[in-house]
Amino acid sequence: MDNVREIIIIGSGPAGLTAAVYAARARLNPLVIAGTVWGGQLMTTTLVENYPGFPEGIDGPDLMENIRKQAENFGTEIINEDVTKILLNQEIKEVHVGSKVYYAKSVIVATGASPRMLSIPGEQEFWTKGVSSCATCDGAFFRNKVVVVVGGGDSAVEEATFLTRFATKVYLIHRRDELRASKIMQERLFGNEKVEVILNTEIKEVLGTTKVTALKLFNNVTNEESELPTDGLFLAIGHIPNTAFLDEQLELNPEKYLIADHGVYTGIDGVFVAGDVEDHIYRQAITAAGAGCKAAITAERWLQSL
Ligand code: NAP
Repeated sequence: MDNVREIIIIGSGPAGLTAAVYAARARLNPLVIAGTVWGGQLMTTTLVENYPGFPEGIDGPDLMENIRKQAENFGTEIINEDVTKILLNQEIKEVHVGSKVYYAKSVIVATGASPRMLSIPGEQEFWTKGVSSCATCDGAFFRNKVVVVVGGGDSAVEEATFLTRFATKVYLIHRRDELRASKIMQERLFGNEKVEVILNTEIKEVLGTTKVTALKLFNNVTNEESELPTDGLFLAIGHIPNTAFLDEQLELNPEKYLIADHGVYTGIDGVFVAGDVEDHIYRQAITAAGAGCKAAITAERWLQSL
């Protein structure tokens, strides 16, 4: 076969594109299958203040554009398509994108994780009609409106703070009696007079007509039910790893994150892992980028050893 590549990288967040930079500089001519929505979670973030090298911070999408250009400048080929099927348990791996098949000696899986849903009545019905998982994308639609963010982590606090740029009032609803977000981000949130935090409360239903008008709430301490009028609901309750397309060919933990030795090696020769699809602990852009670097160097050495 003369159409076998050295390496295919699946995913185009910080992990996948950093792997591409390293693989391209190692002259492996990587192909990145980026997904129809490329760039990963940073594409739905505003200012990233904790990625080294940017003392004033950098917007997530700008950071991703930069890493993509860097990978392309060294010769990475990138296609904005989704993998529809993959065959890993063979010497030459097959990556299917619809009817087209790409072949490679090695594969890096860097497909990241996707937002978790509440799975309550009305959530799907009012999706894009007031329900969203991306404040950066949809926040401007809620100018002078009332919105709710659900969740207690950094994402929820970040989204709630961001939404105060547009909304007149932002409720942050969390199911427990304390937030898990970092203290500095909580301080910013609590210092914002547009924000009201509602604790010990679960959202049971999204109500509306053609658009969201209210949420049905349940206080799990007092057992009281109530309705909160709102124009929007932003989900910020964590993520689910994008591993379904692998069809259980690689080892997964009970939450469906990939299991990999040293965060890199899968149980299959020539198949490596990078980023949030494996890392459910740190989940930072910089750790994902570092993991992409490790995976690419590991793949390069493995290819050399063949
Ligand atoms: P997370 O830390 O896992 O927090 C998820 C939150 O959603 C938790 O408060 C959790 O409640 C709640 N939750 C989960 N399932 C729920 C459900 N079914 N119903 C209601 N609430 C539910 O996720 P994250 O906030 O997306 O953050 C992920 C990682 O990215 C973290 O490591 C975080 O530090 C990082 N991050 C950093 C920044 C930054 O530094 N700028 C920004 C965003 C994210 P419990 O607390 O009760 O479990």
